Amino acid sequence: MEKPLKQLLIEHGLNLKKAFGQNFLTDNLLLGDIVEKAGVKDTDTVLEIGCGAGALTRHLAKRAKKVVGYEIDTRLKPVLKEIVGEFSNVEIVFGDIMKQKMSDVENKLGGEYIMVANLPYYITTPIVMQFIENAKNIKAMVIMVQEEVAYRLAAKAGTSDYGAITVGINLRGNAEVIIRVPREKFTPAPNVDSAVVKIEIEKDKFDGVDFIAVRNLVRIGFQNRRKMLVNNLMNGYKLSRADAENALISCDISTTARAENLTAENFVSLANCLKNIGVK
Ligand code: SAM
Repeated sequence: MEKPLKQLLIEHGLNLKKAFGQNFLTDNLLLGDIVEKAGVKDTDTVLEIGCGAGALTRHLAKRAKKVVGYEIDTRLKPVLKEIVGEFSNVEIVFGDIMKQKMSDVENKLGGEYIMVANLPYYITTPIVMQFIENAKNIKAMVIMVQEEVAYRLAAKAGTSDYGAITVGINLRGNAEVIIRVPREKFTPAPNVDSAVVKIEIEKDKFDGVDFIAVRNLVRIGFQNRRKMLVNNLMNGYKLSRADAENALISCDISTTARAENLTAENFVSLANCLKNIGVK
């Protein structure tokens, strides 16, 4: 951003709102790096959620074919006009992304797109899951999250960071941490460090799978993550030990495994095995 953020905010008489998670990035090198590592090309359409004062939007606009940004805080209208108004490939929609219909958002984007978001931490997980489960044309998600959450999203099976949300992501793609962002890079600085995670969506991964059944199994499996999976299956589905063990054995999963040992592929095949023995 050419003008310092503080000056911009003073000129527009704005004070930042904590409730909207308004911690803004101002470091141009870092912003350029995020867009570079996100892999945005001049043929790409980008959905940016939470444009703020437009610093990231500006970098995206210089690289992408088209940027559609959503911002909840209408007080930022004049700021965004000043910062990205000169770009004819940028359209800003003022509204709460949580209240938009997925089909309306995707119609506006008009085809495949990359989602980029630096959001308040309390809505990041619902937004990620919303797009993982319902978005049809998404190619990748590039999201800034609290550092510890970033490692959870990108965790490998068998590690303590691996959980239900990791499996949820792995059902549609793969996540990796692309940049660490120390708290001092934000104005004002939050209490935690952050990291940017890129989730590549693999088209047609697990095509034809009953996602509702798999998600239910993942929820049951991680209900008590310290317990062996067999016990969570018995409790969650009201199964006898013999039936729960047979389901695991029939898909080559150890009867002593815990949910954190199972890959997304394991969960998909176990959901099938359970279906085959009539478990709902
Ligand atoms: N992208 C900017 C940056 O990197 O500096 C701003 C990031 S700031 C952490 C989050 C932005 O998301 C704020 O401008 C806030 O007003 C906006 N926001 C918060 N909740 C939102 C929601 N539900 N829908 C759309 N925007 C939201």
